[in-house]
Amino acid sequence: MDGKVLDNDISKIVEADRAHVWHHLIQHQPFTGPDPKSDPRIIVEGRGMRVWDQKGKEHLDAVSGGVWTVNVGYGRERIANAVRDQLIKLPYFAGSAGSIPGAMFSEKLISKMPGLSRVYYTNSGSEANEKAFKMVRQIAHKRYGGKKHKILFRERDYHGTTITALSAGGQPERGAQYGPYTPGFVEVPHCLEYRAQWDLSGEEYGIAAANAIEEVILREGPDTVGALCLEPVTAGGGVIVPPEGYWPRVQEICRKYDILLHIDEVVCGVGRTGTWFGYQHYGVEPDFVTMAKGVASGYAAIACCVTNEKVFELFRDDAADPLNYFRDISTFGGCTAGPAAALENMTIIEEENLLENTVAMGDYMLDQLAALQDKHKVIGEVRGKGLFLGAELVADRSTKEPVDEKLAQAVVADCNAQGVIIGVTNRSLPGFNNTLCYSPALIATRDDIDEIVAATDKALTKVFG
Ligand code: PLP
Repeated sequence: MDGKVLDNDISKIVEADRAHVWHHLIQHQPFTGPDPKSDPRIIVEGRGMRVWDQKGKEHLDAVSGGVWTVNVGYGRERIANAVRDQLIKLPYFAGSAGSIPGAMFSEKLISKMPGLSRVYYTNSGSEANEKAFKMVRQIAHKRYGGKKHKILFRERDYHGTTITALSAGGQPERGAQYGPYTPGFVEVPHCLEYRAQWDLSGEEYGIAAANAIEEVILREGPDTVGALCLEPVTAGGGVIVPPEGYWPRVQEICRKYDILLHIDEVVCGVGRTGTWFGYQHYGVEPDFVTMAKGVASGYAAIACCVTNEKVFELFRDDAADPLNYFRDISTFGGCTAGPAAALENMTIIEEENLLENTVAMGDYMLDQLAALQDKHKVIGEVRGKGLFLGAELVADRSTKEPVDEKLAQAVVADCNAQGVIIGVTNRSLPGFNNTLCYSPALIATRDDIDEIVAATDKALTKVFG
């Protein structure tokens, strides 16, 4: 760490933060004590896989900026330089006009997404999902007299933080106390085989879980359902990799009932699972793909709602009807820093073969976590794809009763104390905030993974014996 910030009076910065910053997703009461341990954490600097906090302590970041974001790691000067050059040339113009990086990144992105053709720029994952929801609703009005307007979402999935995105949220603790919600969103069952709702396994379980979606469609009336929105691999709801057979059946059902398929790649998008996009493991052909976090690895805010030409054609301007186009704008969707950073981010992934590294290191990490499961009976299941992994903690392997979430949090806190930042499902399903989460940057090495797994081993021993 170069110490520039620490040369200033860091205690003044901590005091300013404590007095004025409202942090995301955490309680603030613990910051009020006189003990320096109650100081809010301030991350000062990052390089590669590591970050340094205000006390100069080094941390190995096993969660890519806390929420699956910094896919190419910290300190990438070439992204910073590309953004700098672009900002000097042109920082912003409203998205009704094009920009050079916007056009160039859209071309590169679409080259990774056969079957899709149009990129709508926006600035957060929630907003990208809302764009798709609005398109679905507008299509319902244009083609079906407003009837085919319902949007299905899945138990345990998350699609964002705005009221409408929460209306499509399958995580009750995220949504609690923020209702009333937007009408027309309907939940379908989750597909986590470890917590199976049907006495089946493998492909049969996957098909049953998809058939459960069809049951909801039939119950609601297929002529009222416009779209199905799913995460390819569920993130915050417990790192859920769909079973064999699930996705092909989902695609069949969507086609059968003329339902648009919206895949939320906000977490999986741009390399996280070892392919450019999570859905590409399963051979499905979505109508909408939304993405955010890894698109520019957090170096600039950017999100995209990508559609196929079939969807785009429905919005082609008809001059005779002044409402016949997508009447939507995202002010900061016109920032040029986002696509400039995204273009460089994607080039780095290509040049450094980070998809290949993600597959190799993901397999290695899954094996290491499985070895940990042999040692610690509190680990009920390890699962994941690429560098996107989870370890579900249970009080009893035979009943699968989840551990008290405070114990899962104690494991995270102990890893933190050891200088390794891992995550845990957080304010998701009541009683099921019990899955440790790992999503190191796609540059992770065996040594990094060994360090992460060793810290977890030590923490599990400390908390559970
Ligand atoms: N979709 C998924 C799957 C997410 O995990 C998240 C955020 O964690 C979002 C959407 C919302 O993204 P944002 O926080 O950028 O609005």
